[in-house]
Amino acid sequence: MTLPKEGRKLGIYESLGVSPVINAAGTLTRLGGTVMRPEVRDAMSEAAGSLVPIDELQAAASKAIAEACGSDAGYVASGASAGLTLGTAACMVGLDVAAMDRLPSTANNGRNEVIICRPHRNSYDHAYRAAGATLVEVGMSDRYTGVGVRETEIWEIEAAITERTAAIAYTASPTSFPALTAVTAMARKRGIPVIVDAAGQLPPPSNLRRFIAEGADLVSFSGGKAIRGPQGTGILAGRRDLIASVALQQLDMDVTFELWNPPAELVPKDKLAGAPRHGVGRGYKAAKEQIVGLLVALRLFTEESARKDYDRWMGLLKGIEDGLQRCTHAKTAWLLPKYALGFPLLEIQLDEKSLGLTAYDVARKMKEGKPAIHVGERKVMEGSILIHPANLDDASADSLVGRLRSVLGCPA
Ligand SMILES: *Cc1c(COP(=O)(O)O)cnc(C)c1O
Repeated sequence: MTLPKEGRKLGIYESLGVSPVINAAGTLTRLGGTVMRPEVRDAMSEAAGSLVPIDELQAAASKAIAEACGSDAGYVASGASAGLTLGTAACMVGLDVAAMDRLPSTANNGRNEVIICRPHRNSYDHAYRAAGATLVEVGMSDRYTGVGVRETEIWEIEAAITERTAAIAYTASPTSFPALTAVTAMARKRGIPVIVDAAGQLPPPSNLRRFIAEGADLVSFSGGKAIRGPQGTGILAGRRDLIASVALQQLDMDVTFELWNPPAELVPKDKLAGAPRHGVGRGYKAAKEQIVGLLVALRLFTEESARKDYDRWMGLLKGIEDGLQRCTHAKTAWLLPKYALGFPLLEIQLDEKSLGLTAYDVARKMKEGKPAIHVGERKVMEGSILIHPANLDDASADSLVGRLRSVLGCPA
């Protein structure tokens, strides 16, 4: 590595010509997710130094995830999105190894449709289709006539169930409708599994158990967001038979069937016609050190640590609010989480006219300095920027206030 003039050793990213940023935008994948705790980094470094059978490590992960989520079993893949694809594949083919080999073609499969309520559709629903499933939309997203008062109703979901239905997809949020419990109660009666996308529904840690407790068959969480595990990981928790199908469609399957001895709690070899080839999920692997890192991060993601984090975040955001006291072109508002111990956000509402800048301009100018400072952009259309505390500390919060005061022309 080269040394800069002042003799300081270049950081690993700087040596690649990439500059670290201050991220006040949240646990966003495009900005690196979150920073892993030192214990997680140490565990990964140790794990990277030896070799283990991955199916045994996944069986251990399954047990740890089951305990954390209150599920039968679990699996670690390369993200929450990967978990949704793997879970969909499992719901479509179960333990039918011939059908596994045909995916993503579902021409000869009985079940290849995933029902989703229209308002639950989002940019991540590619994940369901990536396994070969077709989305079947139900409900009405009436937002503009002013007369639509009803969200999707249970009978509409039930009416869409046919012999081709593989699963019902559910996008979790504090306000998702219909209630998950109502969907799972109906689905259970009809024998259809429910897959929940809860990728971003942490914290609080208690939500690890919420969706399984509410009847979900599979639930997918990001490992690289609030849990602060490796960015390229996700947790899929759920039914043991579905997780077995997930494992078979994800693991390296260049095995000799007679000599292959997978952990029985992960893969019931006696129920298989033979070993499938590499599955549709082969591209979603998590490395051994990533699996270990995620499990350590999961162990450290507790109600107690969440409470400490929440208090720290509130302190940081209050400090930022105080720092903007005399900024005449901006006022602040709080977006407090709907789940207790969720992420609080500070909204900075700009008087774009008097300031002579739009929220787009302000967000752009924050990125132009060094280091670049990224703020939440979700409300720029409404003239606001958002401050998300997950990746801030005292020093970066100070830098943020300094830059913002200068961009907003606040009096000293
Ligand atoms: C982040 C996110 C995902 C994808 O999670 P990854 O772990 O990055 O794969 C899927 N769905 C929702 C709602 C998310 O917020």
